[in-house]
Amino acid sequence: MVLHPILQDLVKTPFFRYFKVKLWCDCPFWPDDGMCYLRDCTVCECPESEFPEPFKKSSRLFSADDVICQEGKPQAAVDRTLDDTIFKGWIQIDNPWTYDDETDDAAMTYVNLQLNPERYTGYAGPSAQRIWTAVYKENCPQYPSEEWCNEKKVMYKLISGLHSSISVHIASEYLLDSSANLWGQNVQMLYDRVWKHPDRVRNLYFIFLLVLRAVTKAADYLEQAEYNTGNHVEDLKTQSLVRQLLYNNKLLSACRVPFDEVNIWQGQNGPDLLQQIQNQFRNISAIMNCVGCEKCRLWGKLQVNGLATALKVLFFVDGKNNLQRNEVIALFNLLNRLSQSVKFVHDMGPLMEKMERHDSSPT
Ligand code: FAD
Repeated sequence: MVLHPILQDLVKTPFFRYFKVKLWCDCPFWPDDGMCYLRDCTVCECPESEFPEPFKKSSRLFSADDVICQEGKPQAAVDRTLDDTIFKGWIQIDNPWTYDDETDDAAMTYVNLQLNPERYTGYAGPSAQRIWTAVYKENCPQYPSEEWCNEKKVMYKLISGLHSSISVHIASEYLLDSSANLWGQNVQMLYDRVWKHPDRVRNLYFIFLLVLRAVTKAADYLEQAEYNTGNHVEDLKTQSLVRQLLYNNKLLSACRVPFDEVNIWQGQNGPDLLQQIQNQFRNISAIMNCVGCEKCRLWGKLQVNGLATALKVLFFVDGKNNLQRNEVIALFNLLNRLSQSVKFVHDMGPLMEKMERHDSSPT
């Protein structure tokens, strides 16, 4: 896949590796949930401007006490190592698609995504299940009863595709032996959670193509946008990678339209649909505040924001420059995560087919 290596380089650039996010929990649905004590335990939720200069340059990792706050699992903790790169130049308004107030700088923090990869964290059980159930119910009140969902199938497919992608990342970077800190692939998990369910694989491809199409559609805006972090050399590289990516995307769309957005949500009224989808995203974004593992919350928020941005571009933005920096960062990082998931599933295909044959052979 020609896009994947470019995306991998792009998300490592200073512009794309910092995501602004509100991390401490403010769950509006289950205030008595045990995970809310995490807020007091996490040490540094203060705004970047309050950090002393030397802290910004040092590699400050969590103390042992902090780690206990992350449900006792170091792999679930967000690494807040900072450097002195601070973004400037983009207009900041509160995004109506997200629950958090992005203009509330005191509550927001920059996170270096490269130091906090999306992978296995150990977050599971009733808390995780409750989040997924709430997210599915948000776009389909009678989930899993299909008949109630017809007109909302698109949202279901997108959420399911995102869920598949998260499962793929857990399986591709799994903690195989905690005492030896040994990480590797959990192919049985990939098979059980994703491959065995062809609709989940299809939904993964569906969301990937939708986000790819959104990036293609916003190509002119994205090409002209300012990728300024104050590091001239790195910023030129970012600009060049964005162009390479868009150039490839343009080629792709010229050869074969990868996604036909005109034909989805057919027959629905534009303004009503916009309001409905925006509300759904605000609610899903609010549900993300209830995710009891900080690193999962970070990636959950980023990917929901990236998906909302893709839908905004595809269906509701009329060519005006109204994407925010954080939305563009979320959009490209989401595309990269999806691209990586698709690649992993594709590469594992032969092994998965073998497991499938073994599964269906008579014992
Ligand atoms: P779950 O993945 O919790 O699924 C719950 C139920 O949903 C399943 O029983 C099935 O009926 C249905 N389902 C599963 N997949 C799909 C699909 N693709 N489409 C439709 N229905 C489906 N854990 C980590 O280790 N690392 C992370 O980075 C991480 N990030 C997370 C982010 C969010 C926002 C959430 C809510 C959870 C995250 N988790 C993460 C937890 C992880 O997603 C699982 O919940 C956990 O591993 C337990 O998995 P499970 O097998 O019980 O099923």
